[in-house]
Amino acid sequence: MSLRRFPRLLLTAGLAFSVAVTGLAASASAAGADGPDDHGHFGSDGRALAGDDWNGTNKPATRAASSNWPSAATVITRLQAHGVNPILTAGFDDPVYEYNARFAGSDTTPRAVMMHDTGTGVPASKLKNTHSLNWILSGVKNSDGKTVRACHFYVARDGSVYFIYARRTWHAGAGDAMFGIPANKMNGYSYGIEIESQGDSVQDLTAAQISSASKVAAAALEASQLPIDRLIDHKLYAGRVQGKVDTAYDLGMWRSLVAGEMGTTYKAPYVSKNPKHISMKMMKWAATGTYVKRYQNALRKYGAKLGLKLSRYNPSGSTGYYGSETKALTRAVHAKLKAKSKAWRIFVNKKKDKGFPATNLVRKIGMTPIA
Ligand SMILES: [Zn+2]
Repeated sequence: MSLRRFPRLLLTAGLAFSVAVTGLAASASAAGADGPDDHGHFGSDGRALAGDDWNGTNKPATRAASSNWPSAATVITRLQAHGVNPILTAGFDDPVYEYNARFAGSDTTPRAVMMHDTGTGVPASKLKNTHSLNWILSGVKNSDGKTVRACHFYVARDGSVYFIYARRTWHAGAGDAMFGIPANKMNGYSYGIEIESQGDSVQDLTAAQISSASKVAAAALEASQLPIDRLIDHKLYAGRVQGKVDTAYDLGMWRSLVAGEMGTTYKAPYVSKNPKHISMKMMKWAATGTYVKRYQNALRKYGAKLGLKLSRYNPSGSTGYYGSETKALTRAVHAKLKAKSKAWRIFVNKKKDKGFPATNLVRKIGMTPIA
């Protein structure tokens, strides 16, 4: 979750919480019942977390109906392979919460794993070990007042990992289209990992939390057979749409740590400090980051100058994600240039326009191409 600003709201402390200690469970610390006014989460009705599912039609969710989603046993096996013994929370595999989340279809598979921080607004010195746990388990309600789990995994201040929910649930809310997932539908296609934190872009995670969260992310990617670049954070998906700022850490840091856990490497791309520089290597499908954003900003400015209707090609604006909208706007700019000059006509015809820029387009929009 984690917004820049948090309306203070009264919350019923989730006293019904209990921890099912099974053979798999490590020591479970008691869930601290939050006081009614020290809880900074932005909403208890779930609307902000629901994305397109708030008004969805729920159908019975059974294990068979959501069989494309990795089973709880698969996930637990992967967690244990990374040395994590999750604390299994009551109802962690109960289909009722997926039903309450109103997912209409059963044909989704995880395509991303999303890092969050809980964004309590409470400084680290005053954060209880499991400050947000009650809220995550029972604070989020659908429009009928029924509970929806707020993430899949929760990492307490001491690094202990709680398995909150094994099936699809709400954690992402509204956000940009990516990885072939339509806008606002990320909940049906992703795991969410909540890490207890002040939020507000404050980097206050404990070393134990960073280590545990990296292991959990590795396990979730592996259970879903996803590569490291499917690890995202809430701000990448919902920064533009909801003003999300979590996590407070650079996504490149998480990817490096998680890749290490998975036995691979992820080298965070070097970003030139010259704001005019655009790396041509990053001008590719599903690329994310600074260079993509620089390209989008410059392309939008140039496209507007050419008289293109940006809302038609690129309603989402500059997201830092190279997807179908960036391709469409690139093509539209190419087409305008083609109509204007013979050189561009020859160039674009020869290139068979796939919606990615060559160095001449990058120069044309006022930027400097680098490798
Ligand atoms: Zn978040």
